[in-house]
Amino acid sequence: MYYNSDPLHNSMPEFRLWLESTARELYDSAVAAFPNTTRRQHATDPIRIVSLEWTPFLGLKTLFIKGLAQNPDGTRGFSEYQPMILWKNVNYNPNRRVVEIIASDRQPYRFERLEYNGHDVLVRCDCGDFHWRFNYYDYLDKSLYGRKRSKYESQGGPPANPQEMPGMCKHIMKLFKALGDAGVVE
Ligand SMILES: [Zn+2]
Repeated sequence: MYYNSDPLHNSMPEFRLWLESTARELYDSAVAAFPNTTRRQHATDPIRIVSLEWTPFLGLKTLFIKGLAQNPDGTRGFSEYQPMILWKNVNYNPNRRVVEIIASDRQPYRFERLEYNGHDVLVRCDCGDFHWRFNYYDYLDKSLYGRKRSKYESQGGPPANPQEMPGMCKHIMKLFKALGDAGVVE
């Protein structure tokens, strides 16, 4: 979630306080960050999530999910990327809305169904859209999973994210949707 301060009450013309974000907030931010394109959020249909890896961290109350996203009809032909989401504050002692999975360690786990607007998440994808447009601003938003890109890479050329807003690429969007379709998230 980000805030623009009220300019009447602040000497700085624009000031942003960056905080952690839910999936819903990152999605809405990605849509708002590029008001002149709908390609990102409307280009998820051809993408298929062909496999999922689940890694629960019970002590940390987090759940790491990595998807394999394939697009047979990408702009440069077949493409394959790995969107990933780390969910925070996962309830592994559910007494309602129970979800059961077999994790990557082949053990069963139970947790309370996740919420798009209830859990803060960290996200990452190895595609160019995420790397150039969202990696750095998700880092500032404390919503980036893993390392931020190097400063050297972020210099030069026109701004890749003119409004400097956090967000997500279409592969992460599709992974969230696949988890919703599977009943893991609501
Ligand atoms: Zn991506």
